[in-house]
Amino acid sequence: PSRVRALVYGNHGDPVKVVELKNLELAALGGSDVHVRMLAAPINPSDINMIQGNYGILPKLPAVGGNEGVGQVVAVGSSVTGLKPGDWVIPANAGLGTWQTEAVFSKEALIEIPSDIPLQSAATLSVNPCTAYRMLVDFEQLQPGDSVIQNASNSGVGQAVIQIAAALGLRTVNVVRDRPDIQKLTSRLKDLGAEHVITEEELRKPETKNLFKDMPQPRLALNCVGGKSSTELLRHLAPGGTMVTYGGMAKQPVTASVSPSMFLLCRQSLLIFKDLKLRGFWLSQWKKYHGSDEFKRLILTLCDLIRQGQLTAPACTEVPLQDYQRALGASMEPFVSSKQILTM
Ligand code: NDP
Repeated sequence: PSRVRALVYGNHGDPVKVVELKNLELAALGGSDVHVRMLAAPINPSDINMIQGNYGILPKLPAVGGNEGVGQVVAVGSSVTGLKPGDWVIPANAGLGTWQTEAVFSKEALIEIPSDIPLQSAATLSVNPCTAYRMLVDFEQLQPGDSVIQNASNSGVGQAVIQIAAALGLRTVNVVRDRPDIQKLTSRLKDLGAEHVITEEELRKPETKNLFKDMPQPRLALNCVGGKSSTELLRHLAPGGTMVTYGGMAKQPVTASVSPSMFLLCRQSLLIFKDLKLRGFWLSQWKKYHGSDEFKRLILTLCDLIRQGQLTAPACTEVPLQDYQRALGASMEPFVSSKQILTM
């Protein structure tokens, strides 16, 4: 049997400490199985949270890390139809364990994708662009010319939101954390189609309202930070608008509570007088409700955008599997602005 190298964790904890590179044995290929050689797999915040033990679904331990990635079919079991050696596949759901050189997976756990898109796009297709697309389309009926505001706009999801919004004719206001090389980040996001890029501090200034003299106030806000940042997004939403929360990078709650302080009363009155809607989104849940055919349609829609040059992979750093500790460390550092992608 061939030697499989895999990033395995036996306990929850600090990823840099609990994840180890191990040799595993390749499982036998059953009739409904597919032998896959992994090509590339990113390190996403959900992978980190899963290893830490703070996520909506947790694997049985020991587990191979990684929920996303792209692999190439090596061989298929006797009853597998519709997949052949050479095809590209991605995980159908979270929890597959993509941080390994090769594996035998059940056919049901995989979705075929076209192999004519760039490798980095394929490796990062199944989570962030899907999330961005669904949030832009499913919550508010936006028309070309309408605007959307989001925070952590330089995240993988944020970059997909910018590009998909631009492809749909939507205008975006993109909030990022300030940093020494902010100009570089701003121009990179504008090249992707961002109309405005502003810092969290600028968002809090009264002058920010002036942005909406030239563009409609957003009816959709996308929040993956929480805390003060999300309170500010709410402040700029148009009456009746929706804020969708899909992550909590700042590990602070979205504030919409009853409080005697003037600050919070003022925010609370936003909810009352502006009739704002607070919603949540989780792609795993969306897939459960909508099923794999609709997920495949979504993937193909995104592949079309990729081929038309309207959706590129997020800024990435490719790291060989054996240098996983460097990649895990970088994925948890602030202001890195580059998705770590393990290559096998
Ligand atoms: P990336 O790893 O690409 O980017 C992380 C982002 O978070 C960066 O913009 C970073 O900004 C920002 N960030 C990190 N720490 C903080 C902090 N303390 N305060 C404010 N911002 C911070 O992330 P992804 O795009 O892969 O994921 C983004 C979020 O979306 C995550 O929370 C993830 O779990 C969630 N997500 C949710 C999905 C769902 O279905 N609900 C699906 C996909 C993702 P900086 O450059 O300033 O450090």
